[in-house]
Amino acid sequence: PFNLQQTLFKSTSVDSKITDIDHKRVQIKLSESLKPLIPDKDLVFGRNFTDHMLMIEWNAKDGWSDPIIQPYGKISLEPSAMVFHYSFECFEGLKAYKDKEGKLRLFRPDMNMKRLWKSAARLTLPVFNEDELLECLKILIRLEERWVPAKRGFSLYIRPTLIGTQASLGIGSNSRAILFIICSPCGPYFRTGFSAVRLLSTFKNVRAWPGGTGDAKIGGNYSPCVKPQIEAAEKGYQQNLWLFGPDDEITEVGTMNCFVLLDNENGETELVTPPLDGTILAGVTRDSILQLARTWKELKVSERKITMSEVVKALKEGRLREMFGSGTACIVTPIKEINYRGQDLKVPLDPNDASSNAGPITRRISDTLMGIQYGEIPHEWSVVL
Ligand code: PMP
Repeated sequence: PFNLQQTLFKSTSVDSKITDIDHKRVQIKLSESLKPLIPDKDLVFGRNFTDHMLMIEWNAKDGWSDPIIQPYGKISLEPSAMVFHYSFECFEGLKAYKDKEGKLRLFRPDMNMKRLWKSAARLTLPVFNEDELLECLKILIRLEERWVPAKRGFSLYIRPTLIGTQASLGIGSNSRAILFIICSPCGPYFRTGFSAVRLLSTFKNVRAWPGGTGDAKIGGNYSPCVKPQIEAAEKGYQQNLWLFGPDDEITEVGTMNCFVLLDNENGETELVTPPLDGTILAGVTRDSILQLARTWKELKVSERKITMSEVVKALKEGRLREMFGSGTACIVTPIKEINYRGQDLKVPLDPNDASSNAGPITRRISDTLMGIQYGEIPHEWSVVL
């Protein structure tokens, strides 16, 4: 049976036969017929896939196999594979961008590799050398270069996925697993500038809870959130505002982290996001926004608990400034309205521009991050391939 400590030890031990991921051993089996590219206007998120995928198999006896880049296609698994029964699955989402000079860039990909490692460990799926996995990913992206759209706002979405494949109905850790990476070209989240969203605050269902797995990016966290999402959509709201606990703490927005900009009771302008207490996914965008806003030295930047009653009070007293969700897909999504226990709360957008769909700080964060991602603002976060 898989043992995390043993695997960690063995993966670093020189004379062990158990192997770790090694990018120098990547084998490439090219596809014989390349697919036509999808015109930018026809791109629907997550529906089209590139010509190749990366596959790395693992078993408890030998460790990780040689990584193989092969034509994108079906994988064959026994129906008894544990992924189908007990959700042994974790994944990541990051993007490759093409800058004005045609160079390929990734945004803080080391963060995604570390988060996948953490999610894998939480599920007792095999862990791996994150730097080596990133090097394998880079080889795949270089090979799929023609699929990375050149237009600003467009990108190649990359989905590393790890599944437990042991054929067994007995619940336990997996002795077999597969790590694969697939890629999908995608367009901008909002085709015509920002589009502020309406949220339905959700407390009957909860996304995550103390001691649960809300801080891991595992498939099992996502499927139960679809029904509440559909219920919100039926009432005319684009996303759920996930609340938690007796005092309706704000946790996340749909599959995004949540930020509130307000003038606090001490008269300071404060950018608040809930703390990483185990119920929140540690978003790469969240971390980037916190770091950027701290370097500006213009706002108080806080990772702290924030409740709906604090937001309602700030709104009533004219102190609520902006709210937005953050994530790789959209960078930031402005929030314009929240239905909270039957009341529709209007969140301010831009006080100086009534026709605007985003407040000034939301806009500045979006412009800065996008500038870094597309290599227009030099920054160590943007990794050139
Ligand atoms: N929260 C959840 C639940 C998510 O699925 C995501 C998307 N990965 C995020 C937040 C945002 O994370 P990131 O900024 O790394 O995309």
